Amino acid sequence: MKKKLLRVERLLKGVADATNYLLTMADYSQGINEVLATLGQATEVDRIYIFHVHPHPENQRPACSQLWEWVAQGITPQINNPDLQNILFEDMVPRWYNTLKVGGVIEGNVGDFPEEEKNQLEFQGIISILIVPILIKDNFWGLVGFDDCHQEQNWKEIEISTLRAIAGSIGGIIARHEAEQQLQLLNQDLERRIQIRTQELILAKEEADKANQAKSEFLANMSHELRTPLNGILGYAQILNRSPFIPEKERNGIDIIYQCGNHLLTLINDILDLAKIEAQKFELNPTVVHLSSFLEGVVDMIKVRSDKKGIDFIYHYDPNLPDAIVTDEKRLRQILINLLTNAIKFTDEGNVTLNVKAEGIFPIKLEQCSICQQQLDCDRVKYSLQNSYYCQIKFEVGDTGIGIAEKELPQIFQVFEQVGKDKNRYTEGTGLGLAITQKIAHLMDSTIKVKSTLGKGSDFWFRLNCPISQSWKEELLFKDEAQIIGYEEDTVTILVVDDRWENRSVLVNLLEPLGFILKEAENGEEAFNILQNNSINVMITDIIMPVMNGYDLIKKVKNDSQFQTLKIIVSSASVSDRDQQISLEIGGDDFLPKPVDANKLLESLTKHLHLTWQYKEINTSLTPTATEMIIPPQEDLQSLLSITQDGLITKLVETVKTMSDRNSSYLPFVNKVLSLAKSFEIEEIESFIQEWLR
Ligand code: ADP
Repeated sequence: MKKKLLRVERLLKGVADATNYLLTMADYSQGINEVLATLGQATEVDRIYIFHVHPHPENQRPACSQLWEWVAQGITPQINNPDLQNILFEDMVPRWYNTLKVGGVIEGNVGDFPEEEKNQLEFQGIISILIVPILIKDNFWGLVGFDDCHQEQNWKEIEISTLRAIAGSIGGIIARHEAEQQLQLLNQDLERRIQIRTQELILAKEEADKANQAKSEFLANMSHELRTPLNGILGYAQILNRSPFIPEKERNGIDIIYQCGNHLLTLINDILDLAKIEAQKFELNPTVVHLSSFLEGVVDMIKVRSDKKGIDFIYHYDPNLPDAIVTDEKRLRQILINLLTNAIKFTDEGNVTLNVKAEGIFPIKLEQCSICQQQLDCDRVKYSLQNSYYCQIKFEVGDTGIGIAEKELPQIFQVFEQVGKDKNRYTEGTGLGLAITQKIAHLMDSTIKVKSTLGKGSDFWFRLNCPISQSWKEELLFKDEAQIIGYEEDTVTILVVDDRWENRSVLVNLLEPLGFILKEAENGEEAFNILQNNSINVMITDIIMPVMNGYDLIKKVKNDSQFQTLKIIVSSASVSDRDQQISLEIGGDDFLPKPVDANKLLESLTKHLHLTWQYKEINTSLTPTATEMIIPPQEDLQSLLSITQDGLITKLVETVKTMSDRNSSYLPFVNKVLSLAKSFEIEEIESFIQEWLR
């Protein structure tokens, strides 16, 4: 009796130890081996094993394979016996499958078993056997077997239940392990799929980048090709416009050629802008802008159109607006002109309004510049942020036109979208305007909003936070409109390098009448020869040319010490920021986009050659020629001199300008002072004034 109690106790202890193993084991396979060994000692049998039940690989019939085994000393292990893999139940022990499957056990002394089972088991030397099933979620996963090869066993109910329980625990562990494995597989699969997808996305992005690059290049090339003939058209329109021999009537025609050419240029620029914005290569160029004169410029342009259409144009300018702000002038103008042009286009009666309002002035607490999104110490705006305030400005364009249906409002900012039924009005536009305008507004940290009532009119508005500039006077000194007819210095020789005759001839015809000597070259090599054999002061060169391009020419010139004083202006139809940057980096002194703007060209020459221009008199009947200078009264000269000696350039400019406003015969005198003031030649102004002081 005592012995039997001890046996049960030992079994319970073994099962407790085994359970502990199961719960704490680190290595699953090793852990199960430990469990079998513990159970072996607890039950004192000769062999314990676990078989996994599965469909036979060939015929899918129920089969089982041995996975783990423990043997007592002196018993030969069968773990590597291939005969114990893929055993068909029906071949060996058909009865067992059905019993175990439903949770029953096989137990007893082999001698009592049916004949065919007895043969199989005795053949393996088994005298007594206990088989308990491993059920995982009611599925017959496998079995645990206990063989005794020495004696008959008399398994008690409690022992069988205990072993069934441990088989259940083993099943739980196997289930957990299988779930973990499945999870691991899933994870691996997921990782693999993510890797494939990432790879696909990288490839797709590369493809898209390539396509985008190709598109940008195509657009840049196209715009280059279109600009070259336009350069001829616009250049000659400007030359003809300056000609004294063209009668007034024909001059109108020239104006139209110029305007149409300019319109075409705007379209090309629009498309290029869009490509740049999409390729994220669009850069803002903030500068100091004198707000009221900037807006007046816009208003003047728009008024011509509204007058032509016979509608009123109402302009409100808030007196609280700052004098000057820092913003991208060209882009702000582009936004306003687009909104105003649309307003006029879609209004047949009533009025169009432009309302510009200061909504508040706030201290700048920015970590970055609100305009260029760079750090506040960016060179672009540093000078203008001395007082560190910005103004929130609301720009509002209203009209009493056809309006836009509510459901169509979201579409109007889409590329190539034109809404409404009036197809006639479409021909005037491209459907690009608002799309670009909105994108530019976004780049400026703003959004264009719209409210519209069909048949009543529309309101478009946006708000800009613009740093207020204090130093605008120094930045913007003045713009003189008087026409230049020559310069006072010794003759300047200019070499024009361009493979297109149209381009060369525009520059030659613009500059020769002003007294410059012009030489021409078709490519870099020819230019270099001319430079070696002539005394050239300025070279204006294209970039893309056969034989030797502009970049190589500039590099060659820069490496040659005899050309140290030569000024180089790069003029190209490739207007990408990159081209401009390269041109300046390799030694160009200035960059002028084509089509060449006559005023910009002259400005550049002024800057690099310090020329003193001679101006055409405004009205021959009233004013003397440039050389016959009428001098203002002595007291005016005296006050000008003291302003100059105090270095108050801005005040000087304002004062001389009021003199010419008062009496236009002072214009040559005034222009002379202005041109000296423009290059801050204070001493020269002083001695010039003193020349006339008695
Ligand atoms: P488009 O060059 O055709 O004018 P936009 O992008 O500037 O292209 O405008 C897109 C469309 O939005 C226009 O075709 C028009 O249908 C509508 N739209 C824009 N502004 C107004 C307005 N002020 N009044 C009525 N409709 C407008």
